[in-house]
Amino acid sequence: MKETIKNLKFAWKYAKYQKLTILKFLITNIIAIIISVIIPVLSAKIIIHLTDNNFYQIVLIAIVIFLIENTRSLVSYLNRKYSQIIYRETFIKIEIDLGRQVLKLKNETIDDNSSGVFIQRLTGDTSRLSDVFNTLIFNLSNIITNIGIFAAIYIINKTVFLYLVFMTLVLYIVETVRVKVYNSNDKKFRKENEKVSGFVGEMVRGSKDIKMLNSEESFISTLMGKIKDLNQKRYDMGSVDRKYRLARGFIIDLTDLLLICLLVGLIMKNSLTVASALIIHNYSSRISSIVNYLGVLLESLKDFNLSSSRIFDIIYSEDFKKESFGDKHISKVKGNFKFDKVSFGYDERKVLKNLSFEVNSGETVAFVGKSGAGKTTIFNLLCKMHDIDKGKISIDGIDINTLDKDSIRGNITIISQNPYIFNLSIKDNLRLVKEDLTDKEMIKACKMACLDDFIKKLPNGYDTIVGEGGVTLSGGQKQRLAIARALIQKTEIMLFDEATSSLDNETQASIQKAIDNMRKKYTILIIAHRLSTIVNCDRILFLNNGKIEAQGTHEELLKNNAEYKKLYELELIEK
Ligand code: ADP
Repeated sequence: MKETIKNLKFAWKYAKYQKLTILKFLITNIIAIIISVIIPVLSAKIIIHLTDNNFYQIVLIAIVIFLIENTRSLVSYLNRKYSQIIYRETFIKIEIDLGRQVLKLKNETIDDNSSGVFIQRLTGDTSRLSDVFNTLIFNLSNIITNIGIFAAIYIINKTVFLYLVFMTLVLYIVETVRVKVYNSNDKKFRKENEKVSGFVGEMVRGSKDIKMLNSEESFISTLMGKIKDLNQKRYDMGSVDRKYRLARGFIIDLTDLLLICLLVGLIMKNSLTVASALIIHNYSSRISSIVNYLGVLLESLKDFNLSSSRIFDIIYSEDFKKESFGDKHISKVKGNFKFDKVSFGYDERKVLKNLSFEVNSGETVAFVGKSGAGKTTIFNLLCKMHDIDKGKISIDGIDINTLDKDSIRGNITIISQNPYIFNLSIKDNLRLVKEDLTDKEMIKACKMACLDDFIKKLPNGYDTIVGEGGVTLSGGQKQRLAIARALIQKTEIMLFDEATSSLDNETQASIQKAIDNMRKKYTILIIAHRLSTIVNCDRILFLNNGKIEAQGTHEELLKNNAEYKKLYELELIEK
């Protein structure tokens, strides 16, 4: 109950915009309840009058029933319409908020959970929640409309009424236990389902590599194992449920048998007329359908709790940590920044140890060092993709922890080695960073990124859709598209993380020229595998084991640092 109230409170945050419709929905429900009490009582009266041969009364009551029944149809039509409007509007709000909250999650939280957790909750649980909402309303109104039956039986005979209330309570207890067991199995099932859909997602994304590795069979057998487990859980869930339903069927039949015995006993004792006994027996089938509705209602309530907890957990729970930002805003930074004794590790292992360096606005600085030295980590920390453990990072002298999201990410662009290109047209991929992008700006950026010639040759030019993750583009084309995107974004700080590694020498030289043209106007940081591409940088920081081992210009490092000299000479030999 506590959980239901908590979830209803969360749901209310999204439903409260529908106050007027909710009011109309409640009014139609109240009218339906009143009608539901009146109709069985009137019907019972007809049967009683039949035995009295009072035909005038019968016709009068029949006309009244006809009018009331028609009102009931209209009220139930309106009731359904309002409930559907409420849930349509509410679920749009919940789904949009859920999508927004997923994008606010800390990167660690995303890394720690499989993609299936988010996909299942964003799609599966929200659609289940909307189904549950429908079922909940449907069953609740059916129970309410059948309550009139109890009223009619109470009027006819109190002993039978007490007997039926007692048996309904017994069935209610059985249903409560069934639903509890079912729900706990369902919880496990959904967790397992998240794993399977995460695995399937990875399999589809990695399908090219699976084929190259010729490991289809091994993947299929892993998938088969997971699917078998999942279906076993589904079967077990059904098997417990089936047993409970069997018990419920037995109790319902027993209720009917005992009811007949009770009715016969009451007739023999002259406490009940045969006509009234017939009416009661007629209504008893509707009593068992109330129990059915009650069972489904309890099940949907549990389902409502499970689905909403899974959804609202992402939005509100501490288990899904959100990124946090300060509230200071700078619309355009100058481009100075500083790492002051920064220590950081993704886990207990420290990747950066007491790292300090400073970059001035307009400088072009390169980071070199072995793979795993922590170069990309520096870029990620500057964009606040992770929170540092110790020390301070500042932009224009302001601690980035006090800055808002736009001041940081709106002023820094990372162009990575393997940029993510979305399944949109080239134009729309570029528009992601500037909604009001003009064709002139777009073409200029693509020309600078040496991409315009290639795009023009595509069948639909800039409107060509590039597939999920940009699959129809080569690694080099993706990198150039990311560079064009950065040129459009024109942020003061540009971070190139092996951004030209997949390019041929000629294109790399052109891009290098484009980057050179940006020098002095922007603060540029470059991570480069090929040292020959960074010899012109103002400064080179040589990183080793999370620390800066040496820094200076290319010539200074060649002179003063044996390791750097060795790396450069190795590259010359390779060439
Ligand atoms: P570089 O760019 O110099 O090659 P990185 O900064 O990418 O190095 O990585 C530094 C270290 O941090 C590596 O040992 C890498 O395994 C680890 N690392 C990088 N990203 C993550 C992550 N998301 N979770 C855990 N460890 C990571």
